[in-house]
Amino acid sequence: MDIFDLVMNKIEKGLNSPTDFKTIFNIGYTNKIVNNKRVEPLKKEFTRIKRYFVDHFNELTKIAIENLEKRDCNVILAKTQQEALDYILKEVENEDLIVKSKTETGKEIGLVEFLEKNGFKGKIVETDLGDRIIQLLNERPSIPMGPAVHLSPKEISDRLSQIYNIEVDPTPQTLVNLGREKLRKDILRANVCITGANVIVAEDGMIGLIENEGNISLITRLAAKHICLTGIDKIVPTWYDAVTILKMAEASLDLMGAYISFIKGPSRTADIGGVEVIQMQGAKEVHVVLLDDYRSKILGTEFEQALQCINCGRCFLACPLIKSMGLDILSSKYSRGPIGLIKTYLLAENGLEESIKMGLFVCTLCKRCQINCPSEINIPEMILKLREMAIQKGLIMNTYKNTLASIKKFDNPFSKKMMKQLKF
Ligand code: SF4
Ligand code: SF4
Repeated sequence: MDIFDLVMNKIEKGLNSPTDFKTIFNIGYTNKIVNNKRVEPLKKEFTRIKRYFVDHFNELTKIAIENLEKRDCNVILAKTQQEALDYILKEVENEDLIVKSKTETGKEIGLVEFLEKNGFKGKIVETDLGDRIIQLLNERPSIPMGPAVHLSPKEISDRLSQIYNIEVDPTPQTLVNLGREKLRKDILRANVCITGANVIVAEDGMIGLIENEGNISLITRLAAKHICLTGIDKIVPTWYDAVTILKMAEASLDLMGAYISFIKGPSRTADIGGVEVIQMQGAKEVHVVLLDDYRSKILGTEFEQALQCINCGRCFLACPLIKSMGLDILSSKYSRGPIGLIKTYLLAENGLEESIKMGLFVCTLCKRCQINCPSEINIPEMILKLREMAIQKGLIMNTYKNTLASIKKFDNPFSKKMMKQLKF
């Protein structure tokens, strides 16, 4: 099928689908997030910090690695996705259970699929409640911060009743209690955990994480081995900068962020003879996988702004295409939403074709994604650049080609001679 027919199919399917992601918009969930007033006051300082990283990319990466190593972390700067995947596989190979929290970088490199193909099918447990529901129900996630929010409590309880063979009441509190009980057992049993990072602090060699549920705090303290996988674009210079980023991570989604963790390597003590020894109550080993992949390659290009993204998903929630057409539009296996068009181009082998399949030419350039982005990333500008590249490669719809030919031949898009214009 022609790539443009694929897009048309997506549009038709999306417009005719009665439920799906549109329910989230209908219940006002997304408006509450997008319209919250906490983002604006932080924007200036936040953008300065993210911009500083782009301008000092190599220097900050070097400082971060040096200081993480000083804190006894095992650090790898993975130039490619495969390097990151191979490193993680080697670190988990003798385990029979991995507990995991959300990691956008993990999704980007297909971490779970890779581990499952390499012997870990059924041995990876998502510890975020929404992610665990999606995993158990084998459903498609909706928005990154609330992957199961499009499913009704009744739908979830019915399916969990079948899975666990018990009667589950369809109230949110009952479902949360059940999630806590079931997840706690896995969390206590696992020897290794995988997390992402909201920030990596260069001057302190420190990982920063914010969360609501407490699952990240638990898994990073209880598992003997903590593997943190994140893009190098998460590096910030100082602890103070990290606080602004975490405040924005919270504000951008209108969360309250019950827990903030700053992790400076494995747990340690100096209680015996004043000598600092690692491996006390928290993780005995901390591994930090810093992924480069496309990041250093886009410095100085039109796409370098993508490095200022914190994966908050606000552009996704603000986009009218997704609101009217549901989950399939602007969605690829690499990324989703308006910024997903750009990231898919950067990540996929045939990036331009993949971003066209997502809906590159469907975007109306309304700029709502840019206005609602905490970094004010000019996504429409990057979309225009991709379109220009696509046109140069001849990747435009036949209808456009015919229109263009008609304009050239008849001075109008209707493929026929028109009456002469009246002269006044
Ligand atoms: S500019 Fe395009 S991608 Fe951005 S919000 Fe508007 S329609 Fe969506
Ligand atoms: S582009 Fe902006 S709004 Fe979209 S996910 Fe990234 S930081 Fe959030």
